[in-house]
Amino acid sequence: MSSHLSVDPVRSRIMQAVGQKHTAPEMTVRRTLYALGYRFRVQRRDLPGSPDIVLRKHKTVIFVHGCFWHRHPLCKKATMPKTRLEFWTEKFDRNVARDQLTEIALRKMGWQVLIVWECETKSVEILAAKLASAFTAEAYPSDSDLSGAGKRGEYF
Ligand SMILES: [Zn+2]
Repeated sequence: MSSHLSVDPVRSRIMQAVGQKHTAPEMTVRRTLYALGYRFRVQRRDLPGSPDIVLRKHKTVIFVHGCFWHRHPLCKKATMPKTRLEFWTEKFDRNVARDQLTEIALRKMGWQVLIVWECETKSVEILAAKLASAFTAEAYPSDSDLSGAGKRGEYF
């Protein structure tokens, strides 16, 4: 089960191509997905909002959002700057509105939209549980014994 260590040329080419866009939280999500055995593509610009990660087989897109810029609700990282309050409020409102429109557009196209917040990537265990249960719920809609894991939908 060490296949995730190998780097195939196509994948490394994509990684090079997207270069600077790589953020540490996004890389954590990718590594975790890969370790869980999921295969994916990155930054599909032909989809609304250019999702960070696309799992076509699961008809799922993942956005890895910074808590500050995308205003993670109730998160201590989503602080409000002390100066230029009006400027920031407008800017944040625009970001949140754009995220919502993107999500609506993708859902209309039949995609499941999963948001992973930056702060959720600090614990690989929590992250892995969130990712795995998102796909488990999809694979087993009867949801027989996912104790406490939550049903699909609670993540959105
Ligand atoms: Zn957060």
